[in-house]
Amino acid sequence: MKALVYDGPRQVSVREVPDARIERPTDVLVRITATNICGSDLHMYEGRTDFETGRTFGHENLGEVIEVGGGVDKVKVGERVVLPFNISCGFCKNCERGFTNYCLTTQPDPKMAGAAYGFADMGPWQGGQAELLRVPYGDHNCLRLGEDSVEKENDYVMVADIFPTGYHATELAGVIPGDSVVIYGAGPVGLMAALSATIKGAAKVMVVDRHPDRLRLAEEIGAIAIDDSKTDPVEFVLDQTMGLGADRGCECVGYQAHDPQGTEHPNMTLNNLVKSVRFTGGIGSVGVFVPQDPGGPDDLAKQGEIAFDYGLHWFKGQTLGSGQCPVKKYNRRLRDLIAAGKATPSWIVSHNLSLEQAPDAYQNFDERNDGWTKVVLKPAS
Ligand code: NAD
Ligand code: ZN
Repeated sequence: MKALVYDGPRQVSVREVPDARIERPTDVLVRITATNICGSDLHMYEGRTDFETGRTFGHENLGEVIEVGGGVDKVKVGERVVLPFNISCGFCKNCERGFTNYCLTTQPDPKMAGAAYGFADMGPWQGGQAELLRVPYGDHNCLRLGEDSVEKENDYVMVADIFPTGYHATELAGVIPGDSVVIYGAGPVGLMAALSATIKGAAKVMVVDRHPDRLRLAEEIGAIAIDDSKTDPVEFVLDQTMGLGADRGCECVGYQAHDPQGTEHPNMTLNNLVKSVRFTGGIGSVGVFVPQDPGGPDDLAKQGEIAFDYGLHWFKGQTLGSGQCPVKKYNRRLRDLIAAGKATPSWIVSHNLSLEQAPDAYQNFDERNDGWTKVVLKPAS
């Protein structure tokens, strides 16, 4: 089968690799019809991790079931399914409590928790930027789609990761109707947080970035765009909230946060959040803050240290929730909002491309070139 393979920093190619296949009775084999490029792929693409050359990218996957193992009871051949980027078993200590993002079964390293398709340090699983994908624990991991799944493919594929992740940011922040919410980052995840805050009935949603095309997308769903290359975002949010600060804030950038001149400061957004969220407000942090050196789990304790104004955070009595999104916690309800016509996350899609076009797309998305907001690859077309 054809797959998009990592060749080294900022180098990927489409190659013939061995077909994905059923390896255990609980597996499901999916022919991929839509698979996104994600900001998270860039951590590996840019060579910031120990992702192995020759591995296939792709953790935001949707497709048609073409084969099921003998131990699969529920999922049937011919069904169209969207797959949470977290690969989980459903029966370990963490999954039982709903933390499918920290599954202990699908992650073979006993010092780690959590697994994903095509991801560094998240188990050995191949990605779905390929013609076929092996889905472990298929009954648990496949979310079935209805008859509108072809017509709304670009909406449902967002349920694999970024729509639940944006929603999770608002859950961690504690967004309720009437809240004012500030979101740092108008990338795909930040835009999904803005959509989620709107769905939850936030009175005012403010989104900070500096890419005009991305800020325009935020405005299209009624958010207030804040261009931090022109305005101090903290001052802007305080002005908009009678000097109090926003009720809730979401971090949707991660350790690649820039200052307005484009210099990386991993603590930039966290400090801005602490300053622009009110006393006793909530912060949800979903942008990735991982060890910056590719050293694997042994380096986790040291290399991930990021200084931010914890003193002011403490003084203001804010809450802070963080981490990977447990997609299964939200994917059914977000699927059903799409089915009911109450959410259209595909509004951010800028490109529908073939697998062959993926190397060029990676380069453009990585450079955040104008208009490259969200790429959906269509391997089966
Ligand atoms: P992206 O890189 O396309 O978007 C990030 C945006 O942040 C860019 O538009 C950039 O201009 C903006 N930005 C940079 N510095 C900023 C600053 N100081 N203030 C405001 N905005 C700033 O990526 P994405 O796909 O939207 O993903 C965002 C983050 O979320 C990444 O770290 C990604 O790995 C992470 N992520 C986490 C989860 C999870 O489960 N927690 C899931 C998916 C993605
Ligand atoms: Zn993703």
